[in-house]
Amino acid sequence: MVEHELAVLPMNMAGMIRQKQHDYYFLRLKAVAGDLTATQMACIALVAERYGRGAVHLSTRQGIEIHHVHHDNLESARRVLEVAGIQMGASGNTVRVIVACPGEATCKWGVMDTKKIAKELDRRFFNQEAPSKFKMAVTGCANNCTKANENDIGIRGAIEPAWVSVSCCDCQLCLQLCPVKAIERKESGSNGTRAFSYTIDRDRCINCSICTQHCSGEAWEVARQGYTLFIGGTMGKIPRFATVLKHMIQSEEELYDLIQKALTCHRKHGKKKERFGHTIDRIGIEAVRAEILGTT
Ligand code: SF4
Ligand code: SF4
Ligand code: SF4
Repeated sequence: MVEHELAVLPMNMAGMIRQKQHDYYFLRLKAVAGDLTATQMACIALVAERYGRGAVHLSTRQGIEIHHVHHDNLESARRVLEVAGIQMGASGNTVRVIVACPGEATCKWGVMDTKKIAKELDRRFFNQEAPSKFKMAVTGCANNCTKANENDIGIRGAIEPAWVSVSCCDCQLCLQLCPVKAIERKESGSNGTRAFSYTIDRDRCINCSICTQHCSGEAWEVARQGYTLFIGGTMGKIPRFATVLKHMIQSEEELYDLIQKALTCHRKHGKKKERFGHTIDRIGIEAVRAEILGTT
C-alpha cells in the first residue's frame, strides 16, 4: 500500500502511520520473519476489535496492520500489544522489519536457518537510520520465496555441489534437472575403455541444491554451504533487481559485517530518500563493491 507518512511523529510513534482519514492511524506491527504466537494473534484480534474496526490488513512484508485507530487510542492500543510482547514495526527512513521464509526448519528445499539469521539481523539493524527506507529479506534457497533480490539487502541460502565419480551411474538426470544448465558431461577413454565425468560451470551455477537432492546415486555431494549476499534491490516507482555482492559466504560474522558496511556505504553516499540501489547506480557498482569488500 502507499504509505501516508507525512505526519511528523515523535520517535516513540514509529510504526503508527497516519491514514488519509483525519485523526486516524494504522498500527504496523513487528513480526520478525513473519512469526507471531497464537497468544499474540489473539491479542491483535482484541486490539483490532477494541480500537480499530474489527479487522486487520496483511502487508506484503509479512506484517499485520490494524487500521482505523483514532489518535486518542494509539497509546492505549500500543500498551495492550506490548503486554503480549508485540512491538511496533518501522516506518520512515529506517531499517524495516526483517522478512524471512520458513527455511530449513520446515521446508524440504531450505539450506539455511533463515529464522536464526532474521532474528540476528533484527537485533543488529532494526530501526537504524538510513537515507531512505532500507529493507532486508532472508530466503532459504534459490527458489527465492521472499524475493531477496527485491530488497536493499537480500540473503539467500546456497550450496556448492561436488561430483563423486564412484557413486555416479551416468543416468544423466542431473543434466536435465539443472535449471540453468550448469552441469556438463565429458567423455573420454582409450584402449576400448570409456570414462565419463560431470563438471559444473561455477559462474552459471545458482547454488540451488537440485542436483544434490535429486541425484539417484548420491553422486552430487554438498561440498560447501553458505549465503549469497545481494545488495541494492528495490521495487516501487523505479524498480531495480539487486546485484550479487558475494557468493558462498560461509561465516555468519562475515555476513553481518558486510551488511553493516553496505548500510554504512548507503549512509555515506545516499541522498535523502534515495534507495540504496539507486545510489549504487549513481556512483557505480564497482566503487560500491570495492568500498564494502575493502578491495580499494
Ligand atoms: S525460499 Fe526455499 S527454503 Fe524458503 S520457503 Fe521457498 S523453497 Fe522453502
Ligand atoms: S544424477 Fe547423479 S547418478 Fe545421475 S548422472 Fe547425475 S551425478 Fe550421475
Ligand atoms: S546447484 Fe543447482 S544450478 Fe548448480 S549445478 Fe546443481 S542443479 Fe545446477
